[in-house]
Amino acid sequence: MSQSLSSLSSSTPAPIAIPVRALVPRAVFTVILSLILLYFVGAEQGATSLISGHEVHEFVHDGRHLFGFPCH
Ligand SMILES: [Zn+2]
Repeated sequence: MSQSLSSLSSSTPAPIAIPVRALVPRAVFTVILSLILLYFVGAEQGATSLISGHEVHEFVHDGRHLFGFPCH
C-alpha cells in the first residue's frame, strides 16, 4: 500500500487565488470605516465635535485612553 509522490500531491488542495481587483473595494471600505471610527474615538470632543452632547465621547472614552489621545 504505497502511494507515489504524484498521487499524494494531487490530493492536496490548492490554495484559492483571490484577485487584487476583488480585494480593492473591500480594502477601501475598511480604510474609510477605520478612519471614521478613529475620528470618533480621537477627535469627537469640544470644538471638533460633530454631534453635540457627551454621549459619543463617553461611549468611546476607554478607547480614547487606550490609543493615548489627550482627554482630561
Ligand atoms: Zn478621559
